[in-house]
Amino acid sequence: MARILIVEDEPEIARMLEDDLRLEGYEVETAADGPAASTLGREPRFDLILLDVMLPGKDGFDVCRELRKSGVTTPILFLTARTHEAEKVLGLDLGADDYITKPFSPRELRARIRARLRTQPKSAAPSGITVDEDRGEVRCDGQRVDVTPLEYKLALTFVRNRGRLLSRNQLIDLAWGRDTYITERAVDAHIVNLRRKLAGLEIVSVRGMGYRLDG
Ligand code: CA
Repeated sequence: MARILIVEDEPEIARMLEDDLRLEGYEVETAADGPAASTLGREPRFDLILLDVMLPGKDGFDVCRELRKSGVTTPILFLTARTHEAEKVLGLDLGADDYITKPFSPRELRARIRARLRTQPKSAAPSGITVDEDRGEVRCDGQRVDVTPLEYKLALTFVRNRGRLLSRNQLIDLAWGRDTYITERAVDAHIVNLRRKLAGLEIVSVRGMGYRLDG
């Protein structure tokens, strides 16, 4: 059964959500502040995150932005209290999948959750490479991978440009820095090493053009 992370600082609402979703058969875990949400949200075991906006420590918008920036693809459904919060979810490029305004009916919330889980195949949960910029870590299928500072920058460059072809010159600019002199052969060697460490990672070599992180 799907596992849901509830991020909500008001204990009564959190408990109500928890009970309701457990009754529906979901596995549920809770977090009560922004920093906890940022940490737990990166765990690959969750299929969906219910994210309150007004939270102690760090607001839901920042949490969402951080999670997306580090490559987390878990669906995020915002719980927003006020209309302007809802507008922000709609208007900003936060990477949220849906939102629901408080007060909401449990029935509507359940329907939204079901809809989200249907469109998200289990295998699309965070797999492959993610980069946690707060912690300075590269992960492969949720497992931390030991990388050099340069490999970290390379991994970050690929994650930020997922699905996009990067020429060796672009990679040098982005990962090494614009004025670095390094041969294309050396770039290839570093990518070979990174690929080896991230077994299963889809860094595709595009003949004569560069590299692309698929997925
Ligand atoms: Ca709140």
